[in-house]
Amino acid sequence: MQPHPLQHVFHPANADHYASTIGAGLQHLVRTLGRVAGPAAGTSAAEAADRVAAVDLDAPLGETGKVLEELSHVWLDDAVWFHEPTYAAHLNCPVVVPALLAELFIASVNSSMDTFDQSVGGTFVERHLVDWTAGRIGFGERADGVFTSGGSQSNLQALMLARGALEREPLGRLRILASADRHFSVQKSARLLGLGEDSVICVPTDERHRMDPAALDRSLAACNGLGLRAMAIVATAGTTDFGAIDPLPEIADLAVAYDTWLHVDAAYGGGLLVSPRHRHRLAGIDRADSVTVDYHKTFFQPVSSSALIVRDRALMAPVTWHADYLNPKDHRSLASPNQVDKSLQTTRRFDALKLWLTLRVMGPDAVGEYVDAVIDLARDVQAALSDDPEIELAALRPELSTVVFRYVPAGTVLDEPALAELNTRIRADLYASGRAMVAATKVDGRQFLKLTLLNPLATVADILGIIDLVRETGAGLGVPRAEPSPAQHVEAVAR
Ligand SMILES: *Cc1c(COP(=O)(O)O)cnc(C)c1O
Repeated sequence: MQPHPLQHVFHPANADHYASTIGAGLQHLVRTLGRVAGPAAGTSAAEAADRVAAVDLDAPLGETGKVLEELSHVWLDDAVWFHEPTYAAHLNCPVVVPALLAELFIASVNSSMDTFDQSVGGTFVERHLVDWTAGRIGFGERADGVFTSGGSQSNLQALMLARGALEREPLGRLRILASADRHFSVQKSARLLGLGEDSVICVPTDERHRMDPAALDRSLAACNGLGLRAMAIVATAGTTDFGAIDPLPEIADLAVAYDTWLHVDAAYGGGLLVSPRHRHRLAGIDRADSVTVDYHKTFFQPVSSSALIVRDRALMAPVTWHADYLNPKDHRSLASPNQVDKSLQTTRRFDALKLWLTLRVMGPDAVGEYVDAVIDLARDVQAALSDDPEIELAALRPELSTVVFRYVPAGTVLDEPALAELNTRIRADLYASGRAMVAATKVDGRQFLKLTLLNPLATVADILGIIDLVRETGAGLGVPRAEPSPAQHVEAVAR
């Protein structure tokens, strides 16, 4: 076939052009990967912005080779690499190869998941994966769900469905109960739904950062007493900072007692569904009305890949809307099963294919073993740090795969602002060095650093290497080794 004059369109006449372009890109990426020598290049925001701003978008380069060179300059050379063992900052996972193969197909074929007539088998691939996930949760035959762009969207949709189930209640009376360590998307969702951020009641947690069921009971009773209606309880299975899993069986009992929707946000802890050794920690999740699972966190999938799974497909009704041009009401039948009836999105990527190829190549146990590996890693790192005089640990043990800590230099007495300043500077300097990346968080108002461990290839030695860098960096920042003043001493003892 002659190459088509419109050679850039994905088309059989341009198959050679397609293959050579993708091939060149693949080679470029593999070469880049081979040169990566740390999680980051340490580029500042100003530098990165300047490089991008210098590109004239009205003056195309044409040739793929030149474009790839420019791409390295504006992005790849400075990118953050989640496969690097000293990347331990946010909840980003290294990704598995079968899912990357899927990405090529997803993007090239470009099926859209809104209607059957834009996806055909794709609709059923997604449905099969939803059913599979629902099965892992322990939901029955009536379960349903849909892929979403991420945990935030899944949580929003869950709360929208919960609101829909109480359609007749005035918005001002509705309350959402979630632990003090819940994800911020709960508040954002409340705002989007018109409930207002104040509608979210933050239930206190225990010393392991898990929701306290007795406190939840009191809050629910207080709502009733005030003539308010508890619209939903959001239990978190894997909080973002501590990985804490709220006590699901006790919370499920309260959801029944108070006739309230139970949503389980398992964006982080969802990987336990395939864990050979830790699945039992999600006991009770099958009693939820809805569950958020982020495959792009603990199933090692590329962004985006997430789902909202519901106990009963009838609960999905509030998200359904019929448009004459797309999913008309009169054509609703098994012959035209349209995923748009369950989704907040209309045009939607076939992200499900990534999980499909992952399961078909690796199988769920292999994914679960990766999850177990990072749980073991966090446990071993915490144990290795437990008698380190310069590392203060914020928790007695990791609940999933995070370790929250801070550097407290030996022989010094620093007050809270000084410790916060020191640890904040350590984190920034680590990024600038390009050698390691850690996250930061606050615990009861006190500044800490956080290792989020999602790389099954990272070893204890790799992670202790990060701690050594933290120590070196901190020591290099020149902390005053002064004798404590009496007031500082009292404060240090109180800490
Ligand atoms: C990451 C996370 C979310 C948000 O998920 P996104 O995919 O980033 O939108 C929600 N809840 C918890 C507990 C999370 O850790």
